[in-house]
Amino acid sequence: MKGTRTPLIAGNWKMNKTIADAENFIQALLPRVSSADGVEVAICPPFTALSAMVDSTRGSRVQVFAQTMHYAPQGAFTGEVSAVMLSELDLHGVILGHSERRELFNETDKALAQKVAGALEAGLTPIVCVGETEEERERGDTERKLRHQIREDLSKVAEQDLHRVVIAYEPIWAIGTGKVATADQAQDAAAFIRALVGDRSSEQSRAVRVLYGGSVKPENAAELLALVDVDGALVGGASLEAESFAAIVAAAG
Ligand code: PEP
Repeated sequence: MKGTRTPLIAGNWKMNKTIADAENFIQALLPRVSSADGVEVAICPPFTALSAMVDSTRGSRVQVFAQTMHYAPQGAFTGEVSAVMLSELDLHGVILGHSERRELFNETDKALAQKVAGALEAGLTPIVCVGETEEERERGDTERKLRHQIREDLSKVAEQDLHRVVIAYEPIWAIGTGKVATADQAQDAAAFIRALVGDRSSEQSRAVRVLYGGSVKPENAAELLALVDVDGALVGGASLEAESFAAIVAAAG
């Protein structure tokens, strides 16, 4: 039973789209998702297009998320932005701990613990990404990795706030590779993540949303989104075109 959890389909644009590209995209997306009842839809543009996308989506069902933030509220951190700055833009939330941030920009679980708590405090919904490398999966270390990331990254979240966090299970070997997790792999990992939240509160574990991410496309979305413990998708490549993103949203409805 998925209970009362509303599916969320979030598109991570990464470092793609100018403001003009983003405007074209959103004008094409809005009519395609206007009747997708019972599904939350989010786009995660680069910083430069956030404000324009908040304006263009006002009054629609589409939420706007940032792709990262710093853990401190302000200070000498050249090039960074804080949770308070993002919430001032009227954003719905922020992606935290994407594997590209972890691998290429040294984002640590220690920093993430502060970021997740900071995002919630600023009224933002964090989408916290976790997942194993191909080697970790082959070594049988998937659960150990997920346990470590979930325990660390959510360590500063109060028990009653756990349901406000969205967790994205993103096996690193499936991101941008075209290799998608099997239904069993995605379901097992999502159930394991839910059980980890359940170690702190069974009530919160029933409410927390767990997404799958990694080469989700219109052709494989329905099978993944039907899984008992999968409450939506974090979509990279297929979120860059309004038509394919809208088809994934439709598969969640
Ligand atoms: C991602 O970057 O979070 C992602 C899932 O990418 P893709 O859908 O392209 O694999």
